[in-house]
Amino acid sequence: MPVKVGLLALQGAIEPHALAFQALGATSVEVRTPDQLAAVDALVIPGGESTTMSKLLDTSGLSEPLAKRLADGLPTFGTCAGMIILARTVLDGRVDQQSYGAIDVTVRRNAFGRQVDSFEADLAIDGLADPFHAVFIRAPFVERVGDGVEVLASVDGHPVLCRQGVVLVSAFHPELTDDLRLHELFLSSIS
Ligand code: GLN
Repeated sequence: MPVKVGLLALQGAIEPHALAFQALGATSVEVRTPDQLAAVDALVIPGGESTTMSKLLDTSGLSEPLAKRLADGLPTFGTCAGMIILARTVLDGRVDQQSYGAIDVTVRRNAFGRQVDSFEADLAIDGLADPFHAVFIRAPFVERVGDGVEVLASVDGHPVLCRQGVVLVSAFHPELTDDLRLHELFLSSIS
């Protein structure tokens, strides 16, 4: 059976991720309920607003099932706000904001500051032959990386693409370009 990738669809931009998976021949479905979460083999947590997403995870009843599936090793790709949701520790978050510790990193929200709150950069990514054009929108970056976390790309020495086992997180939005290599990398981690 082909893998079914869930796209957490509580808030944020899902459609570009769906198109990327479609272009790669993978099936993706929206996830808004615990039943839908239980039916997927992998999950994407998209960009958006991590504080809002954290609240909606609570009110939708998804918070506990999500924590459980992450603890059980659900392959997950978090982009931007999704990276924040998956981190062990969040700096400059709201006090009631929840993160799930699926990857042992500390991230700082809106870390690039106001002046450069959105920018684009051609990133060298470990394992990819050519640079990746990366779109950053009020992006976080990683301030601490735990043992077992691979840093695959950085901007000015700040990690912006990390992986720990089957969890991949990017501070930027790979779904906003037509470069499919990171979605492909994620799919390759799903058995
Ligand atoms: N700044 C947002 C947050 O803290 C993330 C922005 C994004 O996902 N593009 O959640």
